[in-house]
Amino acid sequence: MNLLDANDRPGTYPPSWYAATTGLLPPFPALSGETTADVCVVGGGYTGLSAALHLAEAGLSVVLLEAQRVGFGASGRNGGQLGSGQRQDQMALEKIVGPEDAAKLWALGEEAKACVKGLVDRHGIECHLKPGVAWTAGSEGEVHHLHDYAAHLQARYAYPHIELLDEAACRALCPSPAYRGGVLDMGAGHLHPLAFALGLARAAAGAGAVIHEGSRVERIDEGAEVVVHTAGGRVRARHLVLGCNGYLGALDGRVAARVMPINNFVAATEPLGEEAAKVLTRDVAVADDKFVVNYFRLSHDRRLLFGGGESYGYRFPADIAAKVRKPMTEVFPHLKDVRIDYAWGGTLAITMKRLPQFARLAPNVLSASGYSGHGVGTATHAGFLMAQAIRGEAEGFDTMARMPTPRFPGGPALRTPLLVLAMTWFALRDRLGV
Ligand SMILES: Cc1cc2nc3c(=O)[nH]c(=O)nc-3n(C[C@H](O)[C@H](O)[C@H](O)COP(=O)(O)OP(=O)(O)OC[C@H]3O[C@@H](n4cnc5c(N)ncnc54)[C@H](O)[C@@H]3O)c2cc1C
Repeated sequence: MNLLDANDRPGTYPPSWYAATTGLLPPFPALSGETTADVCVVGGGYTGLSAALHLAEAGLSVVLLEAQRVGFGASGRNGGQLGSGQRQDQMALEKIVGPEDAAKLWALGEEAKACVKGLVDRHGIECHLKPGVAWTAGSEGEVHHLHDYAAHLQARYAYPHIELLDEAACRALCPSPAYRGGVLDMGAGHLHPLAFALGLARAAAGAGAVIHEGSRVERIDEGAEVVVHTAGGRVRARHLVLGCNGYLGALDGRVAARVMPINNFVAATEPLGEEAAKVLTRDVAVADDKFVVNYFRLSHDRRLLFGGGESYGYRFPADIAAKVRKPMTEVFPHLKDVRIDYAWGGTLAITMKRLPQFARLAPNVLSASGYSGHGVGTATHAGFLMAQAIRGEAEGFDTMARMPTPRFPGGPALRTPLLVLAMTWFALRDRLGV
């Protein structure tokens, strides 16, 4: 079974709080017959939509093909956290790519946040974008590590937006017994992810990009002219942008060897009213230090939106609410009987080193994916960087592409069982506190 059909009704957004609180767009027609464009974009999430928007704004003709609906994938389902930097912290990056490229990657991470904020402003996208993400930790050692990291960002990258939270300050912000301190990054932010994706789609269409939903790409013939086939038609284009991330399936084996899908889950409680202050006293998002990260924030109607729990392989668990309730009550024991009104899953893509894979698969074929849970900013920016590269300015794309993304051991057949083993081990370490 194709991942695109495994957990959802075709052409239908999942039953998320996001879909329930966003004005959905009228469907874009499926591709029918043959058409031509300067650029064909595959995938209607942040990566593809941002690429299409920036290319169309630069005057290129663009056709975007989306198998389901725009924002159907991770872009319409995620935790909405717009994080700073890259998925790996700067100290790790300095070791992996050296200090010079690490500094460039930090600057690109800052650009990614500015890219999102700029798009929201320029196109008047109403997606509740607000500042503030706190990183919290449950042990003294981890709190020290976060404080050291904040000092490193201040000293080496002159980053002014991060403040330390000792135990009292952390509890004042987030009265959970699970956390003993952390940092608060007011340069990061959070938003309504589906509203942002649909705003990008509206802006891209407004700029002249032609969007086709219900148009799954079945085959791509590369060459000086790329020919992209769906069941109903084909697109001939000078350039191709691939932005399928966790939903890529077997469409491109070169990407699939280095990028792999995993599932993550989110629940929205009933509105908490006054009780919301027992979860968060400020309108910021939180992510903790667990290997399977718990992340949460309050919605604009005062629900707790809590993300946690992963699964590997294609299928979501039958009871997603129960899956999320478990970590949620570990963080907030007083919510053990709270009603969960919405629970949904999404598929994202990770890489071996949790660094995104930017790849030039052929001179005129670009791909970006594998954001490893850090895609709100990075995927949106990837679309911009691919548009720039197609227009001949590839420095940003090439810097991102220098990050190493090794193949998963075991190849497509064995990568999932091996990943399950590794993930189970790390999750066990979380539980044992080692
Ligand atoms: C539950 C969850 C929580 C997350 N939380 C965060 C967070 O808080 N912060 C953060 O930064 N990141 C988070 N992420 C990751 C983030 O959502 C992704 O990195 C980002 O949305 C990726 O965007 P994308 O456009 O590359 O992929 P997607 O949004 O997944 O879009 C890919 C699209 O390609 C389409 N497609 C696939 N195959 C084909 C084909 N053959 N033909 C046509 N179309 C095709 C799919 O239908 C899909 O719409 C989370 C992800 C999940 C699932």
